[in-house]
Amino acid sequence: MTERYVCVHGHFYQPPRENPWTGLVDEEASAAPWHDWNERITDECYAPNAAPPSTYERISFDVGPTLMEWLGRHRPDVHRGIVDGDAAAAGRSGGRGGAIAQAYNHMILPLANERDRRSQVRWGAADFEHRFGRRPEGMWLPETAVDLATLETLADEGIRFTVLAPRQADQVRFADADAWSPAEDGMAQAGAYRQVLPSGRDIALFFYDGDLSRAVAFDGLLHDGDEYARRLRTAAEAGSEPRLVSVATDGESYGHHHAHGEMALARALDEVDRDPAVNLTTFAAYLDRHPPRADVRILEDSSWSCAHGVSRWTGACECGLRDGGSVSWRQPLRDALDGLRDALALRFEQAGESLLRDPWAARDDYIRCLLDPSPNVREDFLAAHGTSRSSGESVFALLEQQRYAMLMFTSCGWFFDDPDGLEPRQVLRYAARALDVSRGGPATASIIHDFQLTLGPLASLYSRIIDEDRPPGEAGVSWQAP
Ligand SMILES: [Zn+2]
Repeated sequence: MTERYVCVHGHFYQPPRENPWTGLVDEEASAAPWHDWNERITDECYAPNAAPPSTYERISFDVGPTLMEWLGRHRPDVHRGIVDGDAAAAGRSGGRGGAIAQAYNHMILPLANERDRRSQVRWGAADFEHRFGRRPEGMWLPETAVDLATLETLADEGIRFTVLAPRQADQVRFADADAWSPAEDGMAQAGAYRQVLPSGRDIALFFYDGDLSRAVAFDGLLHDGDEYARRLRTAAEAGSEPRLVSVATDGESYGHHHAHGEMALARALDEVDRDPAVNLTTFAAYLDRHPPRADVRILEDSSWSCAHGVSRWTGACECGLRDGGSVSWRQPLRDALDGLRDALALRFEQAGESLLRDPWAARDDYIRCLLDPSPNVREDFLAAHGTSRSSGESVFALLEQQRYAMLMFTSCGWFFDDPDGLEPRQVLRYAARALDVSRGGPATASIIHDFQLTLGPLASLYSRIIDEDRPPGEAGVSWQAP
């Protein structure tokens, strides 16, 4: 059997857009004639890719848990198509389903604190298991943002591999070499690499083909499915065996960013499948046959969408800046939310002390109540985590506070260059909702004061947004200066 492989990975994701007070997505005029972007992108991409021959049966992919939740609620046919695609691939002889998990709400994990990092990975894995009926073997990192602490968390939770951009490899060492050497172009095609972690454990890392992935995402390769197939086969047939050529892009390339991109992909997959010299595979299936033959050292604090590391999400670089835009708000927004997270954590611990045996363990497990809202799940949860003084209402209000305190770090908030854009507004709404559900308390005024002090000149804009976006009649904490 030939040891030449092609793996196409799609990262399917849209930022959560539910209004946190209503649980519904507000009308988004820019998506017209659709009601909102989720509906539009579902029709352009997620649904057509589920039509036979299902993309989800033939590629490696991850779907953001918050998007899967929306699909499950609004387009159960598409949700089912995605899950069935994974199951069909797993059912073939020696097959492995193509689905991998994603950290829960697309937080930049190297910028998160240790507790949030762990909850994001646990919630992402639990969400995956609930939907796909098996534990995840791989996990996609939001924006492929990585550091050793994040990889350590993945390994702790039993995740075997993740996928990174080639520039995130710093040094490599092959089995026949004693010395480390700088990672070079072409290292990605050697298959899986092993990253040894500070704890002594290790995790497998795949690096996608940078040129091919760029061609798919940005250079119009999807205009021609035959050409896409030719590029994949040529790349896989070069060099020595075993060889793995993998492409990783946003899944929305296939139908949303590029009209009919899903048809070009289907055509390319057909061609690759027909070629006896090349095998179409998934990362998990490849890893079964080919454990890492080389070691790698990652570039700490790096990502696929910021050449400067993870600066895009703190304001230390100008990635995403266009004429007339600004990035000076990114750092104050992050600092303000970091401060709010810490203040809410203190409140959670203090209130949780008498209500929960171990508040943070309860938070990690709370995902099961979100996945299955039935009363008996809540009763089980309370029996496992509550104390004799717990009332369901106060326990779940506290946990909702923590859910919003994580949602407010959804990375999209920092991605663009408009401080008043839909994405920063969304993280602010989550911040406000987190404080609303934690029901006041004497420290609330000082929490808001600190938040506004950190925001500086942005404070009045953001206070106004919060008070505007909260639906009329909804009780909540006022953010306007007294
Ligand atoms: Zn950057």
